[in-house]
Amino acid sequence: MIKTFIGYVDTPFDSDDAYPYETKIGGAPIWCSQPPAQYKDLKCTSCSKENLAFLLQAYCPLDSVPDYERNYYIFVCPKCSNGANGWKVIKCLDPLKEYDDDQDDDEEDNENDDEQEEEVTTKKEQGDWGVDDDDWGADDDNENETSTTTTTSLQQQEKKQTIAEMIKSRDQQLQLDQNKPKKKQPQVSLRESFNSEQEIISGVVIENDKSNQYESYYLFIEEEKLKKQQHQQQEDQSHHLKKYQSHDVEEAEAWSGETYEYVQDRVFSKFLKKIGSNPDQCLRYSFGGEALCMSNQGVEQVRNAPKCKQCSRTKTFEFQILSTMITQIEPRNNQPNELDFGNAFIYSCPNNCYDKSKDIFNDVAYIEDSIIIERAV
Ligand SMILES: [Zn+2]
Ligand SMILES: [Zn+2]
Repeated sequence: MIKTFIGYVDTPFDSDDAYPYETKIGGAPIWCSQPPAQYKDLKCTSCSKENLAFLLQAYCPLDSVPDYERNYYIFVCPKCSNGANGWKVIKCLDPLKEYDDDQDDDEEDNENDDEQEEEVTTKKEQGDWGVDDDDWGADDDNENETSTTTTTSLQQQEKKQTIAEMIKSRDQQLQLDQNKPKKKQPQVSLRESFNSEQEIISGVVIENDKSNQYESYYLFIEEEKLKKQQHQQQEDQSHHLKKYQSHDVEEAEAWSGETYEYVQDRVFSKFLKKIGSNPDQCLRYSFGGEALCMSNQGVEQVRNAPKCKQCSRTKTFEFQILSTMITQIEPRNNQPNELDFGNAFIYSCPNNCYDKSKDIFNDVAYIEDSIIIERAV
């Protein structure tokens, strides 16, 4: 069974924290590496006048892409948030920084090592960027150079891995302890796994980033436990069941004025049951899992998930932002909160494809992913 992780707004974000593999809402994006120029001060493509606000970033590594850190950056135009054109989803695939250094006994891997060394140098050079405007994107030479050394798709990358696997297996056990804690269920343990690496790796925050429009908070992520499961562990089941049922009604009232009508609706009722188990959740993560819709229209929308332009596979559900986030996020400077959506579903290619000719910048792939907006009911 595919697990679901749910996210809650947690403590205020520490403004000195520049660790890029963090899951947080608001503030400015912490990029893994200096992003290409077109991602600076993004404009809304729907109204084409508003600056997009930075809504959240989510650290979403996958076992299927073990050599990459994987981050999502979600931007939204508060005025146009009830349609997909008012959103921008950028996924970053960032090659692991401390990619092992004990592969030097193989020619093919030597190439990798060179690439890696090159990257480390780049990162060092960029360590004290201070984000000068001149650094933004103008570096054409570097970009060309990068694209020649980066593989086209992760499918290819994976093929390469299987070839190198025999050679690597000897070292894998050694690497396991070092690498695994960072990759295994990091959604859950990220903030518990503070270590020296966290102090060393510093992301890039753009000064005076116009997307910085909301107060910033950490997101606390845990595996979803439904009330039903929780009940089984309770001695006094009936008492809790009562509470659960009344909770449903409360939730329904919170979600819609037309409670009675909607509770009759099967989709909405299922939605309420799930959410009612953990009412403050504002994010649900379940790669390859199920989008939790609140309307038949939503079910129809996710049924027609887009296809990947590279490999033509239907994109897979990865996570959703719930409208509960709207009441939990605070616009800065007493601006009104204009966000208006039911659910925002993020869909991604199961192969993590990208376009070598335009998605790579300084070794990092920046991929615009799909979002489906279910309107508020
Ligand atoms: Zn707009
Ligand atoms: Zn694909």
